[in-house]
Amino acid sequence: MDDWSQALSLLRRHKIKWVDTAALNGLAQDGVFRQIYAARPTDARTFAIFCHEVGHILGSGEVEAWNFALSQAREFRLPAEEVKSAIRMYLVQYAPSLLMHFY
Ligand SMILES: [Zn+2]
Repeated sequence: MDDWSQALSLLRRHKIKWVDTAALNGLAQDGVFRQIYAARPTDARTFAIFCHEVGHILGSGEVEAWNFALSQAREFRLPAEEVKSAIRMYLVQYAPSLLMHFY
């Protein structure tokens, strides 16, 4: 290897799609290239997860990103209590230690 970019040939060889984690974390220098991996928001749960991921891109930690989802629900005049309950159900399953932040 004469260049770190040679590592990209590894991806091509194995047909792996690359997502730059610097961009995922909102650290891209130009502030334009940002990607989000989330389902299309169609209900309280998917809306919450979608906004949570946007929150991460904007630099939020776990609890802050869920709170960001709640604030967006309020801002968009969506049923915030429904979003909050979807967040709680998600946390019960994946991150029970964060539940205490969402009573
Ligand atoms: Zn998260």
